[in-house]
Amino acid sequence: MAEQKPYRLPTMVTPERYELTLAPDLSNWTFTGEEKVLVNVHEPVREIVLNAAELDLSAVSLRAADGKVLLASARLDAENEQATLSFAETVPAGRHELQIRFSGILNDKLHGFYRSTYKDENGLEKRLASTQFESTDARRAFPCWDEPAFKAVYQVTLIVDQELTAISNARVVRETALPESGKKRVVFADTIKMSTYLVSFIVGEFEGTEPVMAGKAPLRVCAVPGKKHLSGFAVDIGKASLEHFSRYYGIPYPGDKLDLIAIPDFASGAMENLGAITFRETALLVDREKATRTELERVADVVSHENAHMWFGDLVTMKWWNGLWLNEAFATFMEMLAVDAWKPEWRRWDSFTVSRAAAMQVDGLKSTRPIEFPVERPEEAAGMFDVLTYEKGASVLRMLEQYLGDEAFRDGIRLYLKRHAYGNAETTDLWDALEESTKQPARSLMDTWIFQAGYPLISVEKNGASIRLTQQMFRYLQDGSDRDRQWYVPIFLRAGTKAGVVEKNILLTQREQHIDLEDAVDWVVVNAGGHGFYRVRYSQDLLEALKGGLQSRLAAVERFSLLNDTWAATQAGFTSLSDYLALIELLPDENDVNVWTTVIGSSHYLQRILDDMQCLYLARKLRELFAPAVARLGWAPRKGESELESQLRGDLIAALGTVAEDKVCQQRARELFAQYETAPDSIDRNLVPALVGIVAHTGTPQDYEKFYNKFKTAKTPQDETRYLFALANFRVPALIERTLNLTVNGEVRTQNAPYLMRGVLLNKHASEKAWTFMKSHWEEMLRHYPDNAIPRMCEGIIGLVGRGLEADAREFFSRHPVKQGAKQIEQHLERLRIAVTCKERWRDLVET
Ligand SMILES: [Zn+2]
Repeated sequence: MAEQKPYRLPTMVTPERYELTLAPDLSNWTFTGEEKVLVNVHEPVREIVLNAAELDLSAVSLRAADGKVLLASARLDAENEQATLSFAETVPAGRHELQIRFSGILNDKLHGFYRSTYKDENGLEKRLASTQFESTDARRAFPCWDEPAFKAVYQVTLIVDQELTAISNARVVRETALPESGKKRVVFADTIKMSTYLVSFIVGEFEGTEPVMAGKAPLRVCAVPGKKHLSGFAVDIGKASLEHFSRYYGIPYPGDKLDLIAIPDFASGAMENLGAITFRETALLVDREKATRTELERVADVVSHENAHMWFGDLVTMKWWNGLWLNEAFATFMEMLAVDAWKPEWRRWDSFTVSRAAAMQVDGLKSTRPIEFPVERPEEAAGMFDVLTYEKGASVLRMLEQYLGDEAFRDGIRLYLKRHAYGNAETTDLWDALEESTKQPARSLMDTWIFQAGYPLISVEKNGASIRLTQQMFRYLQDGSDRDRQWYVPIFLRAGTKAGVVEKNILLTQREQHIDLEDAVDWVVVNAGGHGFYRVRYSQDLLEALKGGLQSRLAAVERFSLLNDTWAATQAGFTSLSDYLALIELLPDENDVNVWTTVIGSSHYLQRILDDMQCLYLARKLRELFAPAVARLGWAPRKGESELESQLRGDLIAALGTVAEDKVCQQRARELFAQYETAPDSIDRNLVPALVGIVAHTGTPQDYEKFYNKFKTAKTPQDETRYLFALANFRVPALIERTLNLTVNGEVRTQNAPYLMRGVLLNKHASEKAWTFMKSHWEEMLRHYPDNAIPRMCEGIIGLVGRGLEADAREFFSRHPVKQGAKQIEQHLERLRIAVTCKERWRDLVET
């Protein structure tokens, strides 16, 4: 028998149905509650153990199946977040009703049952309460079996002030006024059988849109008053994606209604509570006429992602937190499918290559981890909400889908969901379903990607009609370890031969494999279509052949891979920086926004680590690259151009005016920004972020004041965050100090302050000052910021390439370990090590 871990609950008693009544008091930020839980006692017990944290429990009793009432006392274990209910006599096996009264606080840490505030149109502070239970914070709101495998039905009742709106997972059954208290009782229907982390209750002055039917479920978007006009876009993608998924999965939406709710204070992007999905405002509310394409795409992504979870996560749930990737990688994969189907002109899978590249960056570290790894304590799950779970997970699923074929893959998913509906599953169950429906070795292929960290570098050579492929692990810093790692690599290949273009899909299962074609090979693209989670290194002759036909032989996504893999090779030290710069010089005709994203990203990286003289040289090189591209596109949209082209124009102008330091561009951007202030509609919306970025980069105290006021009085969540985060990019020392103070003086919501701090750390002119500031306010930040934001804020340390700073950072984090993100801190430190190594390696880079 497995040893019982102290933080895991015993299984002698399991919940079947909760009747939960909660009465939040927003004026005192407290709540009281009562629950009746129908439990199954599988063998006689004297004690019942369940989870509770920061709760006071009173009046615990159990009404046995025979009507007898047994009283119990409760003992709380703060360390393991458990309550032990001790009965004076033995509780017999059977189906009984457990009753508990309890009370707690509406906390300010954006988890459990928590508080949020906002100002109404008259500037008065308003209050609301919301929940965020994933991973293990339902126990802060009511005593419960707070592990994903203890699925149960929930019937929620909320007692709230009469003028407030109450929302929970299921539809409202009835509302009754309670005249003596001035309150009302809102009774909700039973939910489906589900895990505790998906329960939700929200109370405040919410306004909802008129319901639209998505399949058989009414769908609304809810927000605090005055924001209804920002809801239309989310309603559209909400309905479209929910209907898309019911078709894809072949299963109707499992809830009885769906509310998408914007919460002013929110720790992550959104949370997939069944039927009551909560969002941070920027991820749901948007002005579809004024927002940029990327801002709209973000809303479409997040809404689709959460809707995908209604099946993947809510209907079928991982057994334990080690299987979190099953939830998150799938929701991310499905989000792309739905958005791609809804707006094909956005070419969502192409831009996903940028996210894939971000995952490959972390996964090329020694301190990476496998997608799935053993999770012992539930709080270890907190460290799994990262780019490896979401983006690497989604990438390897996409690779598998492309290898198996999209219909065969979908059939496997349908089988999996049908088989485990209302239950829990593990990774192996997914492979069972996929192998059964596709008759292909999904398990042995995927095990190398799910349980093994890192990814391969595929080297390609040719000899006549033969192509030789070899795999070895890719790593930025090579220390000779883990060399034997191998993967089952789906190779998607396209070759130009004397007889024409040939395509082949094979599975590379050895260290080395030969592919023999009929005719001599001129050129070859490995990872055709860009779906593979690996890098490619071509022999010199093959590379030259591709460079000679960048636009004719490679699709945009393949040019992205070529650029991105070469940049990674440059950072890893097996391609020289001058070779990389020579490659990007071939791009002036390039029109793909993602290709340019990788170039612009590498430019900022170089600017952060090179010294001042080198930066002058770099800026000149970059002007030669960006200026002709901007000239080609012009400063104003051309008739009939795509949204992606408009976005590209903005991105290139932003780069020309900041990292390339083009004075003419800077001047023009400032003039256009002034024009935008008086006549906003005269400027293309996709250009606005570039203008704001350049004004901040070259900003004066007057500009700062203006941006600060725009942040304070913004009319949309997008404008608010745009001007707020622009404050991190000013370079005047006194202004940097003002921004740093904003991170702790209460003016910026704790959902945003850590990311503002990260922005200042990444500003080359501010990083040292920011680091000193962060160290001296560390305890304060830990106390106020949401736990999940701390490791993300610390990503800013990758900019600390100055003398002695790396050692200082290592020393600081060894004395101040971040318990919910130890792995991420280790990764940030390794990325810093890589940057310092590159700085050293490139110290001779200056030409005149
Ligand atoms: Zn998710």
